[in-house]
Amino acid sequence: MRPTGRLHLGHLVGALNNWARLQDEYECFFMVADWHALMSEYANPSIIKENAFDNIIDWIACGISPDKATIFIQSDVKEHLDLFMILSALTPLGWLERCPTYKEQIKELKNKDISTYAFLGYPVLQAADILAYKAEYVPIGEDQLPHLELTREIARRFNSLYKEDILIDPQPLLTAFPRLLGLDLRKMSKSYDNCIYLSDSRDILHKKVMSMITDPKRIKRTDPGHPEKCNVHSYYAVFKPELVEEIKEKCKFAQIGCTECKAKLSEILTEHLRPIQEKRNKLISDKKQISDIIDKGKIKAEEVTSGTLKEVKRVMGI
Ligand code: SF4
Repeated sequence: MRPTGRLHLGHLVGALNNWARLQDEYECFFMVADWHALMSEYANPSIIKENAFDNIIDWIACGISPDKATIFIQSDVKEHLDLFMILSALTPLGWLERCPTYKEQIKELKNKDISTYAFLGYPVLQAADILAYKAEYVPIGEDQLPHLELTREIARRFNSLYKEDILIDPQPLLTAFPRLLGLDLRKMSKSYDNCIYLSDSRDILHKKVMSMITDPKRIKRTDPGHPEKCNVHSYYAVFKPELVEEIKEKCKFAQIGCTECKAKLSEILTEHLRPIQEKRNKLISDKKQISDIIDKGKIKAEEVTSGTLKEVKRVMGI
C-alpha cells in the first residue's frame, strides 16, 4: 500500500478486511510501498514517512497482526532496489510502455507530473517486490491482472535467460472487493476530498455522511426513492447488510426520509469505527511498539529477500 495519505473506508473494505482474513490462511507480507509513493509524491516527500507510520497503525487497528504476518517498510529492505535494478536491465522498454495500468495511472494522477523515468519503471519495482519473496500468490482485483501478468513475464524472461527456475511465477488470488464510492459518487480518493477516514471523529463523520449525494430524483420527502441508485444505500449493503431490505422498502414507499436514513448510517459507521479508533488511539501513544514491529518486519523481510538475491546473483554470475 502506497503511504500517500490517511486511510479511509475504501482501504478498509477494499484491502484491509481481506488482508485480515488472508493472514490466517497464508504466510503474508504486508508492505508500505514508500518507494512507490515517492514516484508520485517526489515534490512533497516529507509526508511519506509520517504516512507510513500512520498507515501501519491503522493496519494493526483494523486487525492485521504482527504476530501472524510480516509488516514492513519497502525502503528498509535494500533487496527490493537491488532486484529492481537487475530486472530493469532485462525488461524490454516496450513492455512498460504498453502496460495498461501505467496508462491508467497517468490518467488517474493527472494532477501530478509523473512523466518521469522512475514512473515508467513502476511495474518493474512491483515485480521486484513480488519476486524477491518468491510469492506464490498476490491478492488482487481483476483490474490488476495485466500488472501481475507483466511480473510473470519478467520472471519467465529471467529464468529463461539464466536457464534456471529461480524466480517463481506468481498466481493471482482474485478477490471481489465491495466498491465504495466517495461522498460525491466519484472514486473515494484524498485528491477528490470525498473520503471518510478511519480516524474521522464522530462529528466530522456525521457531517460527511449528511453531505452524501442520494437519489437525485427524490426531491421531496414524500417522493418515492430509488435505493438501487443511492450511494447511501450501498453503504448499508457493506456496513449493515441486515438492514438493506428494510431500508430499500421504506425508501421505495417514502416511509423514510433521506435525512433520517443518513443519520442512521452515520451512527452505524461511528459504531463500526469505534473499536478501530480505540485501538488506534492506544497504538499512537506507544510509538516504540510500532517501531519494534517495523524493525521485526524488516529483519524477517531481509531474511527472505537476501536468500533470493543470493540465488539471483549466483545464476547470473555477478
Ligand atoms: Fe438513499 Fe436512504 Fe434517501 Fe433512499 S432514503 S434515497 S436509500 S438516503
